[in-house]
Amino acid sequence: MTFDYDLFVIGAGSGGLAASKRAASYGAKVAIAEYDLVGGTCVIRGCIPKKLMVYGSHFPALFQDAAGYGWQLDNFLLDWEHFITSIDQEVRRLSQVHISLLEKAGVELIAGHAKFLDPHTIEINDRKITADKILIAVGGRPAKPDLPGIEYSITSNEIFHLTAQPKHIAIIGAGYIGTEFACIMRGLGSEVTQINRNHLILKGFDEDIRTAIQEGMSNHGINMIQNTEVTAIAQVPEGLKLNLSGDDQEPIIADVCLVATGRDPNVEGLGLQNAGVDVVPGSVEAGYCTTCAIAVDEYSQTNQPNIFAVGDVTDRLNLTPVAIGEGRAFADSEFGNNRRKFSHETVPTAVFSNPEAATVGWTETQAREKLGDAVTIYRTSFRPMYHSLTGKQERIMMKLVVDTNTNRVLGAHMVGENAAEIIQGVAIAVKMGATKQDFDDTVGIHPSAAEEFVTMR
Ligand code: FAD
Repeated sequence: MTFDYDLFVIGAGSGGLAASKRAASYGAKVAIAEYDLVGGTCVIRGCIPKKLMVYGSHFPALFQDAAGYGWQLDNFLLDWEHFITSIDQEVRRLSQVHISLLEKAGVELIAGHAKFLDPHTIEINDRKITADKILIAVGGRPAKPDLPGIEYSITSNEIFHLTAQPKHIAIIGAGYIGTEFACIMRGLGSEVTQINRNHLILKGFDEDIRTAIQEGMSNHGINMIQNTEVTAIAQVPEGLKLNLSGDDQEPIIADVCLVATGRDPNVEGLGLQNAGVDVVPGSVEAGYCTTCAIAVDEYSQTNQPNIFAVGDVTDRLNLTPVAIGEGRAFADSEFGNNRRKFSHETVPTAVFSNPEAATVGWTETQAREKLGDAVTIYRTSFRPMYHSLTGKQERIMMKLVVDTNTNRVLGAHMVGENAAEIIQGVAIAVKMGATKQDFDDTVGIHPSAAEEFVTMR
């Protein structure tokens, strides 16, 4: 049987772009479908615009710090429209760059919503297209809990397009997205209330990271509400009123409410049933829907042998470099005569909160679950030299989780300035299986904060 394409990719985000270009580089005839701006969540409404907002939010604190070093800076004001418009322009520029890269790679871009008609046939813009192999890389979208008045809330998709800076923003959810936006908006000068149904933010991260960030955020003036759930949102003359249940029952009045309670794989309208593609049987937590993630094996293959899925739609590790890595491993395996798996082990990640955090490898809890008492923890907490002149009480926390028997470093965790930049380098050592002795044998760069990673005793 002949097909229109060797590979048809649905979704031009991190995973789809990487896979389509890699497959085309092996000579495959490839098309990619996208119904929105090319670039996907990361480029259009995720990592990139968020990190630009993070950078923007750091300035007021830096201006204050500068005074400690003798600089006199009067009246600094944020031009919100300039800020939001500049970020939007950069996002659109990057989207164009990705379109050019597809053209250069010889991948055909087809604008529109793609849907399966059968395991080899896609319908897009009333056109039927056949392909030998099909890659589903449709990502995810914000999930909103089912609450009265939830329609008045926004998600991370809309926060990049607010026409005015909120005076008071209420954030429901304490995962990394809610936590990062709480810090961004506080840094920019908004009053922020973050509502968390648990006692600590950032479930799944090392407990010391969770505690250090939560304390840091409170010190920066973020109102952190714990063990509390929002039961309803209503419009009132002053803005939005959030009713609460749990430890804190005093209603909150805010002008914007951001919901960041999880993301759903983007499978609606994809016609998975027409292709007989299985989804993951799993639990449905409030806000999270793991039952609709696409079920794949370690080669990202679905139950249909010619259909594959990568990235957030498989709900494995929802990060851009992971989607890219899975996409490339798929293309190498299926078109490059190099069958290989993408390793989900020891993937470093960061939380761009303030204070920032980054982590690689096992948390202390994971290590103790697996190794019992044979775990040694090295931890340090100190005031960075930079703040000796600013008068601020900011701190850095670093932690190594070590297997006592082998001396191998199983996890490295950090909270504080430049954590992501520092942990990226440490991650190489952890991935390579470095021991604590290897860390000790490495000479520090002085004076730096990072040198503490090789001087902890
Ligand atoms: P996506 O990038 O979401 O791409 C999927 C694409 O498919 C989209 O463009 C969509 O429009 C398109 N599509 C969907 N259905 C169809 C269809 N039927 N037909 C045609 N096109 C379709 N990760 C990090 O590593 N670091 C970060 O700092 C970070 N920050 C984030 C911040 C936020 C606010 C969010 C929401 C996410 C963040 N992420 C971050 C996660 C990261 O963005 C995702 O893990 C990554 O984009 C997933 O890539 P993907 O290819 O699976 O899907």
